[in-house]
Amino acid sequence: VRPPATVVHSFRAAVERAPDHTALAYFDGRLSYRETDELSDSVAGTLAARGIARGDRVALMLQNTPHFVLALLGAWKAGATVVPLNPMYKSSEVAHVLKDSGATALICSDRAWETYLRESAGASPLRFAVTACELDLQSRDDNRVLGFERLPAPHDTDDLLTAARAGLAAPEGRELGAADVALISYTSGTSGTPKGAMNLHGGITYNAERQRTGHPVPEGACYFALAPLFHITGMVCQLAACVANAGTLALAYRFDAGVVLDAFAEHRPAYTVGPSTAFMALAAHPAVTPGHFASFDVISSGGAPVPPALVEKFRASLGPYIRNGYGLTECTAPCASVPPEREAPVDPASGTLSVGIPGPDTVVRILDDSGDEVPFGEHGEIAVRGPQVVPGYWQLPDATATAFPEGELRTGDIGFMDADGWLYVVDRKKDMINASGFKVWPREVEDVLYTHPAIREAAVVGVPHSYRGETVKAYVSLRPGASVGPDELAGYCADRLAAYKYPRQVEILDELPKTTSGKILRRELRSRS
Ligand code: ATP
Repeated sequence: VRPPATVVHSFRAAVERAPDHTALAYFDGRLSYRETDELSDSVAGTLAARGIARGDRVALMLQNTPHFVLALLGAWKAGATVVPLNPMYKSSEVAHVLKDSGATALICSDRAWETYLRESAGASPLRFAVTACELDLQSRDDNRVLGFERLPAPHDTDDLLTAARAGLAAPEGRELGAADVALISYTSGTSGTPKGAMNLHGGITYNAERQRTGHPVPEGACYFALAPLFHITGMVCQLAACVANAGTLALAYRFDAGVVLDAFAEHRPAYTVGPSTAFMALAAHPAVTPGHFASFDVISSGGAPVPPALVEKFRASLGPYIRNGYGLTECTAPCASVPPEREAPVDPASGTLSVGIPGPDTVVRILDDSGDEVPFGEHGEIAVRGPQVVPGYWQLPDATATAFPEGELRTGDIGFMDADGWLYVVDRKKDMINASGFKVWPREVEDVLYTHPAIREAAVVGVPHSYRGETVKAYVSLRPGASVGPDELAGYCADRLAAYKYPRQVEILDELPKTTSGKILRRELRSRS
């Protein structure tokens, strides 16, 4: 089946099929498909009236709120390319993305605009901002979730909900197709300066359709947005797949384990996807019960490594099986996942959990340093070709030529494929630790740490060493109430790993640094050492 050309097409199909079904649920607020359609038409009308033309870039910097969805659909209905921004970005990061993308409009929270965005917008081509008070559709628990009061609307900007309620029609003749650039997604920067991957509409609907059919849930069911919508995983596997299924998208601002558990109880979702750190936090929450997960048909984890110990502990104590999935911004989210009715194998030699099997139109090859394919089981760089792979980075022809030789994405991840076609991600190429000439992959050491009952989160990095060049260091955080010392943890690993692999240094932190999308920032830990 050919997927719809754009999310707007699949959204309109859902409006036809189920106009009164709830499209968006946010605490006590609800918007039906018809209401969401009308409100986003009006946002499109406002953007067009402000001069936004087809192909113009509209930056969008909001948390998981209905406002995000209204702004996204509105911008696409106005023919614009959306530039999603992480709401955690600091001034300099926002300034870089606004300038690089050439965005002429920014949709952001009124608080962020007033406190720092107005200033960072100074040197960019930005012509206007539309601000949103993200509390408007939320009638309960405001301060618990957000920790701040509503601010008065700023004077020189449009207010998003006023624009949405103005009753304007979407502009004519702005229809986009599968080959148009839907998003310029700046990679979240766990590795250096963000580059803008150009996600096409056709790549999004292709992967949303794969997600919808590969992890089937009943039509109209609730999808819970655990991953942030500004990140490609949240955008495709949650929002676009939900719309394709005429489902209800439940939103909860941003990740907070207690708020999320309450929302699970209230919305009874059938599907969610998030980084493994979110599932670790949910499993460690004092209020969690198996009942919180009883409504789910499918739970996936992607975008970051999934320790096999997490999958086992989760199933044993809470019931559901967490399905691993491998994706990158450059692949418009997933390119391999665990098929329904199957469970991902664990490689007996390294203890790594498979990330799944590549999709039907997706070709994954494992390449050596000269670009030749290696035999099954051998390590090499993962390369991906398929309808979801982006055509390149925005205005960066050299970086595009390096990362996408002949249109095939070189992921920068080291992995291997077994004879049955299961793909394994060993680690990022650049995170390899070279200890006296021995290769150590941090993932393998982290997977062992996660089998220790006291460990909540673990990250392993290489730190400079006068004799060995680099040595292995582990940073960990502990589960509530657990008590264990660094020497005991080092000894635990030494019993399970070769002498050159176990961490010679272990440091216990309250919390490991993470991106908003939930990835542990090894880079930040390396620079502490
Ligand atoms: P950068 O592009 O700078 O490396 P990033 O982490 O922000 O930063 P994303 O596109 O968000 O980039 O993430 C893609 C990366 O996440 C992959 O290259 C891979 O290293 C990792 N990853 C994604 N899914 C998995 C998985 N299931 N198991 C292991 N690693 C994964």
